[in-house]
Amino acid sequence: MRKPIIVGNWKMNKTIAEAVEFIKAVDPVCHDGATFGVGTSFLALNESIKNAKNLIIAAENCHFKDSGAFTGEVSVPMLEEIGLKYCIIGHSERREMFGDTDETVNLKAKRLIDAGITPILCIGETEAQYDAGETEKVIREQLSGSLADLCPKCVANMVIAYEPIWAIGTGKSATKEDAQKCCAIVRDQVRVMYGDEAADNVRIQYGGSVKPENIVEYMACPDIDGALIGGASLKADSFIDIINKVK
Ligand code: PGA
Repeated sequence: MRKPIIVGNWKMNKTIAEAVEFIKAVDPVCHDGATFGVGTSFLALNESIKNAKNLIIAAENCHFKDSGAFTGEVSVPMLEEIGLKYCIIGHSERREMFGDTDETVNLKAKRLIDAGITPILCIGETEAQYDAGETEKVIREQLSGSLADLCPKCVANMVIAYEPIWAIGTGKSATKEDAQKCCAIVRDQVRVMYGDEAADNVRIQYGGSVKPENIVEYMACPDIDGALIGGASLKADSFIDIINKVK
């Protein structure tokens, strides 16, 4: 039985004070029907972890090296020190704007797993790839690279977020049929690479313009175990609405 997991991805939003205010409002509403959490800026992680009893707190990136001359980066041991348990890696914005590749995302996944931090690995095709009918090929290739050389148990414990790039922040969400089909491809690729236990246990999220109005239909899909939510996770009211709809 896979426990659903709903994570807000705040991106470069919310000061520490704003993060704490949100957590105080939303944390008491969480229930056992799913794991709920938010990804915050590096600066807000520590206070967020201290204030959250139910919400899980995720970083939105990490470096794969433990230390060194990497100006502006944050290492996994630094995240471990504050008790972090989840980290988003390979988000399309990082791939597009900050040079993340399947290879570096794979190194990040390995380092996080070594530290006992659950990676939330993001993949997804561009609009041009979608239009060209390359979605399945892109999904399989991204997973082959970013999930390379891990142990089946490690993959079973991971979260994979399938996010078509054309649906992120656009209001143009994938149909539930498309989202289900792609999340089933993700699960099949995990099965091809790591076998049944990994495929049957890995939790797969859909992301891309998820909101209170469409969360229920996505969650009803057999291969969708949750959502990674940007815009609709920024306001406490709308995130609470989503929490209440995931039972
Ligand atoms: P969105 O963002 O919900 O605003 O489309 C999703 C994401 O980037 O993870």
